[in-house]
Amino acid sequence: MMYPDGMPTATQDAPDYTAEVARRTAHVFKNARNAITEQEWPHLAADIDSILRLKAARNAVVLAHNYQTRDIYHCISDITGDSLALARAATEVEADVIIVCGVHFMAETAKILNPEKTVLIPDPEAGCSLAESITAADVRALKAQHPGIPVVTYVNTSAAVKAESDACCTSANAQKVVEAMSASWGIDKAILIPDEFLAKNVAAETHVEIITFPGRCEVHERFTLDQVRRVRQAHPIAAIIAHPECPPEVVSEADFSGSTQGMADYIKTKKPEEAVLITECSMSSNLAAEYPDTNFVRSCHLCPHMQKITLEKVSNSLLTMGHEVTIDPDIADRARASIQAMLDIV
Ligand code: SF4
Repeated sequence: MMYPDGMPTATQDAPDYTAEVARRTAHVFKNARNAITEQEWPHLAADIDSILRLKAARNAVVLAHNYQTRDIYHCISDITGDSLALARAATEVEADVIIVCGVHFMAETAKILNPEKTVLIPDPEAGCSLAESITAADVRALKAQHPGIPVVTYVNTSAAVKAESDACCTSANAQKVVEAMSASWGIDKAILIPDEFLAKNVAAETHVEIITFPGRCEVHERFTLDQVRRVRQAHPIAAIIAHPECPPEVVSEADFSGSTQGMADYIKTKKPEEAVLITECSMSSNLAAEYPDTNFVRSCHLCPHMQKITLEKVSNSLLTMGHEVTIDPDIADRARASIQAMLDIV
């Protein structure tokens, strides 16, 4: 059977890949050719076709974090980026439904910033070791222990934790927010939680005394100085780029440290011949498809929570309108105020 536009043909392994599915998804495959192979496409196209049709029927947009797999990131998303960029972008789109391909705190952030929209997460079990490391009660205890010191909270936290905070921050603007909050409170100290490595990396760059909390990202905490040095030895021309959730000795050894957006901007502007992203693995795959002139050395770890989101779950989510994210209105209002405090600074 001939399929249109040079599409791969059906295989016995992918019986749902019909000529009609191939025709309807031809434009997606064309755009994703750097990310998805001809061999993979027949196994993905039926789910992608179903998602595209359900999106139109539901008037839905799909937000995909930089750590999502290639099929989600390149084939079904409307907006890609880090969690805050996704949520902010979603406030500007005309849609009734937002489906978040990311982890639970990201879906909560999308709901906080888009209270009138229906926000869905395809798998409510997609959590985050960092977000789960701290509770609202922990923040209240820290405030009682350190009165008069502003609390700056990383966006990788629950709505309840954000609600207890004076300002949020991202890994890209943490230093700026900490310095602005400490200046406005008239004290040379700030509480920066919950990621102890992000806090230590910021502390190395600022005059503000940082009080932190022992939270960690289970993906970034696994990178070691020894690993980075071995990569450097094996790939001497590669630009080594580390996420600030990595241990400080890893960040110091890197050529550049930045948020996921900062990493993408580095590749876009510096155009290194070879690069190593010390972060979640899917980020390298997604950037490799966008910047084929850079060779990405894969020295990375997968986030098991991000990997819980699959095409099949996205399709089910749109079909059943599950799993809807809801937040207590008072918590949402207070969490929104801490996000707004950040936005007023940056
Ligand atoms: S990569 Fe780390 S911070 Fe991001 S979702 Fe996974 S566990 Fe959480």
